[in-house]
Amino acid sequence: MDKLHIIFIASEAAPLAKTGGLADVTGALPQALRQLGHHVTVIMPFYRLIIENSGAQINPTEHIIEMWTDGIQRHCPLHKTHVNGLDYLLVEQDDLYARDAIYGSSGGAYEDNLLRYVLFDRVALEAAALLGSKINIIHCHDWQTGMVPLLLKTQYQHHPNIAHAKTVFTIHNLAYQGIFPSEWISRLGIPSHHFNPQSFEFHHQINCMKAGIHMSDTITTVSPTYAKEILTSEYGCALEGFLQHHADKLTGIVNGIDMDALDPATDTHIPANYAFGRIAGKKKCKAALQELCKLEISAKTPLLTLVSRLADQKGIDLLLANIEKWLMRGYQLVVLGSGEPHNERLLSAFAKAHPTQMYFHCGFSEALAHKIYAGGDIFLMPSRFEPCGLGQLMAMRYGNVPVARATGGLSDTIVNYPEKGATGFHFSETTPEAFDAGLEKAITIYQQARKWSIIRSNALKRDSSWAASAHSYATLYKQL
Ligand code: ADP
Repeated sequence: MDKLHIIFIASEAAPLAKTGGLADVTGALPQALRQLGHHVTVIMPFYRLIIENSGAQINPTEHIIEMWTDGIQRHCPLHKTHVNGLDYLLVEQDDLYARDAIYGSSGGAYEDNLLRYVLFDRVALEAAALLGSKINIIHCHDWQTGMVPLLLKTQYQHHPNIAHAKTVFTIHNLAYQGIFPSEWISRLGIPSHHFNPQSFEFHHQINCMKAGIHMSDTITTVSPTYAKEILTSEYGCALEGFLQHHADKLTGIVNGIDMDALDPATDTHIPANYAFGRIAGKKKCKAALQELCKLEISAKTPLLTLVSRLADQKGIDLLLANIEKWLMRGYQLVVLGSGEPHNERLLSAFAKAHPTQMYFHCGFSEALAHKIYAGGDIFLMPSRFEPCGLGQLMAMRYGNVPVARATGGLSDTIVNYPEKGATGFHFSETTPEAFDAGLEKAITIYQQARKWSIIRSNALKRDSSWAASAHSYATLYKQL
């Protein structure tokens, strides 16, 4: 059983549909597993408006899955596409998935998200069963697919094709658990005899994350430090006791990034290419970013950068508390992100008040993100918690040195100055003062060109590829 047949069931996957790091993982990990010789199929909803825009060639299959849910018989055609050598199956249900956004608009999450994802989980299992009897692993991701292991073990335990498949459930972010009123249980065909606190009941409500934790054969999360943190009351989001109960099947495997797609030596989004040992292009990228953002063009001025969802998780309040001070010290700041309206409002106001020193782009832009990773000197990640974090990996890949809170994957992936091989700077406390002290430590070194160039080189040289992590996942699959 050297070569495994693995099914990924996920609510988003790059390059077809992405809101954040989850899609980066479900896009890149299957590729890395494929390179190890395994066969991977990704099943996801057919977000027609988004996926058709991605330029992928979508073809219908002959399969239509019939599914009763909430009193309606639904006909769910399956579509397929093939992107970068990988097979995708897409579940069509236009009234549920063909919307402008994946999970919700700026007005908040879609109200029918439980219906959308439980239906998807049920159809995805039927689709997996159609793929034949050689499926070894069904790998589920986050609350949207939390019901899959439960459905598999209660409704497919005799199915000739998939009953024997082992399930892996990956927690990408414990803060989003998929909690909904219990009245939906019978409407959506969720096995009601498991509605108890040992399974997916959470204070009389449905908790999809709990279903995945309880019924999967193994649980992973996206960094070793986060795997430990979520067993504590500080990071456990009220599930720490439940997770402690399942701790023997919990491991942490750090994420990687697609080092080919994110390569300053070949990136077409950035104005000049560069690499370790050929750094001149990075100076041009900095000047071009300053020009684009209408900041003063100055090679010496520290250019601080941030690319992120503007959620409270990301410690944006710690940034906001420091902005005036840092601009007074003469630093520049470029921020790309969207999210909590109050964060967007405050960042806009600061940028408007200091147009020659600060630039804020409110929105999502892959191209601008690359320009910022390449042009910046220092990448800020003051996260309150960070399961893995990809921003810091991308920043290091582009020689943009991170200043980050020591939590989750930020602890595991950034070597803190002055340790040997330092690639960035940590701070510990969740306070503006600690963040400021962390930044000042970095600025002191930034002003010593030789020392800075060593840290930047270490960051540029860091191997953040998926290869090592894909090996860890493959080993885990084989153990199952
Ligand atoms: P999370 O998944 O919690 O949002 P990660 O650091 O794991 O955070 O991943 C964030 C990913 O989303 C990175 O690829 C980052 O570059 C990207 N990203 C976040 N905000 C934006 C934005 N406004 N524009 C472009 N890319 C963004």
